[in-house]
Amino acid sequence: MTLIDSENALAPLEFAVTKNLAAVSPAAREELLRDPVFGTTFTDHMVDICWSARGGWHRPRVQPYGPISLDPAAAVLHYGQEIFEGIKAYRHADGSIHTFRPDQNGRRLQRSARRLALPELPVEYFIQSLRELIAVDGDWVPSGADQSLYLRPFMFAKEAFLGVRPANKVAYYLIASPVAAYFKGGAKPVSIWLSEDYARAGKGGTGAAKTGGNYAASLLPQAEAYEQGCDQVVFLDQDGDVEELGGMNIVFVYKDGTLVTPQSDSILEGITRDSLLQLARDRGHAVEERRVPLSEWREGVASGDIVEVFACGTAAVVAPIGTLKGKGFEDAQPTGTLALELRQHLTDIQYGRAEDTHGWLLRLDA
Ligand SMILES: *Cc1c(COP(=O)(O)O)cnc(C)c1O
Repeated sequence: MTLIDSENALAPLEFAVTKNLAAVSPAAREELLRDPVFGTTFTDHMVDICWSARGGWHRPRVQPYGPISLDPAAAVLHYGQEIFEGIKAYRHADGSIHTFRPDQNGRRLQRSARRLALPELPVEYFIQSLRELIAVDGDWVPSGADQSLYLRPFMFAKEAFLGVRPANKVAYYLIASPVAAYFKGGAKPVSIWLSEDYARAGKGGTGAAKTGGNYAASLLPQAEAYEQGCDQVVFLDQDGDVEELGGMNIVFVYKDGTLVTPQSDSILEGITRDSLLQLARDRGHAVEERRVPLSEWREGVASGDIVEVFACGTAAVVAPIGTLKGKGFEDAQPTGTLALELRQHLTDIQYGRAEDTHGWLLRLDA
């Protein structure tokens, strides 16, 4: 697979590697990898690359994982100029380590950067950063069922300046956290709270960028969802059309087999969604990306036109939706088998158990 146009390929960066002398012992690591909890344990190293308006991308490093020192006036702390990505590394049965469609994450990081007035990291450097971290921390990729190493690339404005303009000094980092299966004992249907008082994004806003601010805006409605006894929250746009969950896209399955997913410039374009829809097309399903009014959802479920609803994203892969609850109503959602079949097929590809016909995998440890 050619991820990158070789004629325009950049020379690789020369990373300076500083080994962590206090790295976790192999025995302690095995213990940590037995049942890792998402986002609580991190590997021994991290990658960082500096950017400045004058010098461009420079000082690529692999160094011991640890606190970052920031000037209290660093722009990110005041104006939220920050973006991130989420991607996983999977261990195959033969021990090799692979990641999934990293070119797509690299391009999305560039699109997010453009919207947040941050510099665009070349996709080659993005992919190289994943390889550099795996080169030192490959042993942290777990081998248990449905386990993986979650990779978290992020970029922020570190210039110490309180004026409001794009920062002239920026840092890119990559950290990694081993994760266990998202759903223990099979994917359970989730309940969703319809947020009517709050939005996560607006027309012309930052909804299509993977930026912390969108998540900050989703925390209060997410807390409301918990108060209502729901697992997740779903957002509408200003026209009452369905957008997405706080961190997952949504897909509707119709009784004629068509898959429909909302499209608008305030939705984060998920790579999991794109991949599941491609697998559905491969099986002969029609796929529509278009506006989905809330009324279409509720009426479709009531009439039986909609036969399945599911959420999707890198962390959970696929989460069937069992209930939609809002002010004064609670609609049980129909559950079928397609969501879980697509989930199985996608994870089979990711873990090397099914043929990768689209060339989505990239081996990281060779
Ligand atoms: C990351 C994210 C998704 C899912 O994207 P994937 O590429 O499938 O992981 C969906 N919605 C939001 C808001 C996100 O930040």
